[in-house]
Amino acid sequence: MANGTFCTVIGCMDGRCQAVVGAWARTHFSVDHPDTVTIAGADGVLVTDPAEWERALAMATISAEKHGARGAIIAGHSGCAGFVASPEEHQDAIRGAVAKLVATGLFESVVGVYHDVDTDEIIEVCRSAAVPATAVA
Ligand SMILES: [Zn+2]
Repeated sequence: MANGTFCTVIGCMDGRCQAVVGAWARTHFSVDHPDTVTIAGADGVLVTDPAEWERALAMATISAEKHGARGAIIAGHSGCAGFVASPEEHQDAIRGAVAKLVATGLFESVVGVYHDVDTDEIIEVCRSAAVPATAVA
């Protein structure tokens, strides 16, 4: 088993993002290490490019199954060169990507965030918690 506790972050390759989003993820999930999958314009690409989605999902699966990550974050950000879009379009894409990741059942909790790179504010766009098995039965 790996040392420490993990969560999973899928976000942009933009160098302004990983430290800020990673710190937020570490605090939010109370874990030691945010495993980070980066894609240029991750939020948009995850909902439009099946091959990139599969690539990200393969890494998220390693994070969940080998590192025991139970929480995941999908992050989009302002000033994104990989997915040039309005804040509203980013937030729509983030919601869509969160829904896709929730549907895999890999994580107990998936949170979508939008990172304003000018202020380093992290805005929570949406969150989904898995329905406990006891509630289904
Ligand atoms: Zn970006």
